Amino acid sequence: MPVLVMKFGGTSVATLDRIRRAAKRVGREVANGYDVIVIVSAMSGKTNELVGWVEETSKLYDAREYDAVVSSGEQVTAGLMALTLQEMDVPARSWQGWQVPLKTTSAHAAARIEEIGTEAINAKFAEGMRVAVVAGFQGISPEGRITTLGRGGSDTTAVAFAAAFEAERCDIYTDVDGVYTTDPRITSKARKLDKIAFEEMLELASLGAKVLQTRSVELAMRYNVKLRVLSSFEDNDIDGTAGTLVCDEEDIMESNVVAGVAYSRDEAKMTLLSVADRPGIAAAIFGPLADAGVNVDMIVQNISEDGRTDMTFSLPVNQVDRAKAAMEAVKNSGDVNYAELVTDEDVCKVSVVGIGMRSHAGVASQMFKALRDEGINIKVITTSEIKISVLIERKYMELAVQALHDTFGLDKAA
Ligand code: ADP
Ligand code: ASP
Ligand code: MG
Repeated sequence: MPVLVMKFGGTSVATLDRIRRAAKRVGREVANGYDVIVIVSAMSGKTNELVGWVEETSKLYDAREYDAVVSSGEQVTAGLMALTLQEMDVPARSWQGWQVPLKTTSAHAAARIEEIGTEAINAKFAEGMRVAVVAGFQGISPEGRITTLGRGGSDTTAVAFAAAFEAERCDIYTDVDGVYTTDPRITSKARKLDKIAFEEMLELASLGAKVLQTRSVELAMRYNVKLRVLSSFEDNDIDGTAGTLVCDEEDIMESNVVAGVAYSRDEAKMTLLSVADRPGIAAAIFGPLADAGVNVDMIVQNISEDGRTDMTFSLPVNQVDRAKAAMEAVKNSGDVNYAELVTDEDVCKVSVVGIGMRSHAGVASQMFKALRDEGINIKVITTSEIKISVLIERKYMELAVQALHDTFGLDKAA
């Protein structure tokens, strides 16, 4: 029988009632003749609570134990979903990551999927089981420890299963009815897109649009998975075309120069004042930061004066403690002799993304003018072929997103 992957996010399994609603959808696809692999997230808010407990217990926690704790939310919903389906007389059972097995690297809290065993689940399908409910977000390391795939990782579990089982489609059920030009929580002018190109979705996701985890888009692109985002609350998917399809650029007829605006609220900026401007200085700073698990994003090095320069970088605000510890260590060891470490924990990143930028000049200047007109100061800028990002003061985040959405006319289709 053809296989369908259906993933339900946190809000879609937040209560027993919602699990029942999701299970009904699954039952319908079973009746349509599919063997279904259901990927579940933890109930909404659960993972945040678990992360909070870990951080309260241990500031510089052991990531292996973090994973042991934060993976538990999905175990609960997987079991509950399987029970709910059984109550509806749909033959179903649950699987945790290690039972599948879903094998990952040992990069705890940010593990990458290496292999998915299809035998056990296929054997059950062959015996007449119709639904495999799999706990999203989790896997097992070569050392036999539980790993997690990074926040939002159930999306990646879903796409990886769709690839491994050659599913007809991977449907991501969530609390919005598709991918929008920007987060609909920030502006009511956000417009739902029927289709979005893989490259654009990849950039939007990596720049903060959490509707899909970045890695899930990467995998869908690589393995040509038909990936769709749709609402678990609306029942309008009569012909399998509701929501937003993430697809190849060639499959989209018309698109705006800028496809969307993304933001990342919880950023920080650190500056090492007066470091020696010598070969190897960047390696001496960013090597230890990487070793400490700090995800450095933007980097700016000032023009040097008298052989010394300032080095600025951005990072997620919850990694500031780790970064400070790493920078104190390199100072004490004499590797990087900076004068002062200045931290600004009050910044956010706002980005515009669009394939059209490849062939259109002027997007950057239009973006900077729109921010200027709102009196917003830009602290750091980075660009790539299809995106421009700025770091600004956090209190201007909503205003900046709205201004950029307006200036690029994203409320109207091309
Ligand atoms: P789930 O728990 O189902 O995985 P998430 O909260 O991870 O759901 O992702 C859905 C949320 O992503 C939406 O509620 C919305 O606020 C946010 N979001 C951010 N950017 C976008 C966008 N461009 N389009 C749609 N949703 C977006
Ligand atoms: N529950 C995990 C999280 O909140 C994974 C997911 O929902 O995708 O990050
Ligand atoms: Mg999510």
